[in-house]
Amino acid sequence: MIIILKRDADPAKVETLSKFLQEQGLIIQDIKGENTHMIGLAGDTSHLSREQIEANDFVESVKKISEPYKLAGRKFHPEDTIVDVGGHKIGGGNFAVIAGPCSVESEEQILSIARDVAASGAAFLRGGAFKPRSSPYAFQGMGLDGLELLKIARQKTGLPIVTEILNPVHLEAFARDVDVIQIGARNMQNFSLLREVGALKKPVLLKRGLCATIEETLMAAEYLMASGAKDIVICERGIRTYETATRNTLDLSAVPVIKSKSHLPVVVDPSHGTGYWHLVEPMALGAVAVGADGLIIEVHNAPQYALCDGAQSITPEVFHRLMKRIAKVHAAVNEG
Ligand code: PEP
Ligand code: MN
Repeated sequence: MIIILKRDADPAKVETLSKFLQEQGLIIQDIKGENTHMIGLAGDTSHLSREQIEANDFVESVKKISEPYKLAGRKFHPEDTIVDVGGHKIGGGNFAVIAGPCSVESEEQILSIARDVAASGAAFLRGGAFKPRSSPYAFQGMGLDGLELLKIARQKTGLPIVTEILNPVHLEAFARDVDVIQIGARNMQNFSLLREVGALKKPVLLKRGLCATIEETLMAAEYLMASGAKDIVICERGIRTYETATRNTLDLSAVPVIKSKSHLPVVVDPSHGTGYWHLVEPMALGAVAVGADGLIIEVHNAPQYALCDGAQSITPEVFHRLMKRIAKVHAAVNEG
């Protein structure tokens, strides 16, 4: 629900109404434009009477929002959200690349890759310490030791770290040590995890679920935001279709669709989106062309020996060339 206020609305009366609504358990969002002032209401508004709110002399009208997501939607927040992690920004015209291995494997491995991707212009370092593997026998990640290695890599390169949380027992460690908490595709609808991570109020990289619609993805963002998080980056990483030529079907149309419905930045993962290193470059460039706010790319110094996702990892050399091409496409589509 959105309450549109009159131009000369008395701030004291607006404050009293906001307080009353807050006491009803609703989340209040003040939406101020150049010539407009509105109050957005998220939560269960079914008990509110539109006529009663419109009876206030400072209220112009009351509008129902048809979308189930409110805080994540553009109607509540018309301007693009810019996620700013110590000056490393994504969204609102700020393009950023997150790069690094699928998994942290050793100190030498993560430091070497971190230095290479930083030198090529990556803004964030990715690396899994806890891995959601399909097989219980596959490498599960280095765990908390991997997190320690990411911290060393951050300290040596200055790149903020992006890494996935699997289990709420690690919330405290992630709150303390991680710059951007990744919610993986498999956990996108783990609603209790979303609530707990949201309550940390830290930046989150939220990956679209394997079989999630765009609306379900935005509802996952809504869970995080309803718990207090504001800085959410949505990631299109491919969805399951009948196609078997690629690991997933990378839905590039999701980028302009999500950006029209939501103020949150959208990044694309061409690595998990395709499953093959030679498809990463063309799909990354395509993502830039359709207006993505950034990319998340798996880079490994020895993909043939990678403990996870080697087939879709590009080398630092390929990444370096790709970054130059990304800059060219970005300049071409954003000129004028
Ligand atoms: C990953 O980023 O390594 C990962 C496991 O991604 P997803 O959750 O998209 O499969
Ligand atoms: Mn991976």
